[in-house]
Amino acid sequence: MVLRFLSFSLLVVHKGRHQLAQVVAYALAVEETLKVTVDEAVMISVNGGLTRFKITPWLRNWIINELGSLRSMINRQELPKPTIDKAKCSACFYRSICLKYG
Ligand code: SF4
Repeated sequence: MVLRFLSFSLLVVHKGRHQLAQVVAYALAVEETLKVTVDEAVMISVNGGLTRFKITPWLRNWIINELGSLRSMINRQELPKPTIDKAKCSACFYRSICLKYG
């Protein structure tokens, strides 16, 4: 994954749509760290397709809510639900210690 700045836009190379959340989280982290406003992001798929999108209030709220949920899970020491797509497990970094794998 490549991350670089174009003014205050984010340029990110990604493999799939599910990384939208990751890109928005990057935007929020950049804003907090550099004290700038990230207005938009550009995601580049592995086949070269470009997706340019605004970092909207809805996206910001989505990620802030997700982070709140994650923080609550950590505080409760609750494990996340295992994926229903077991194909993901084959490339998962945590497979060797995952209690829900297999
Ligand atoms: S190995 Fe465990 S943590 Fe990794 S994708 Fe599968 S269920 Fe999720």
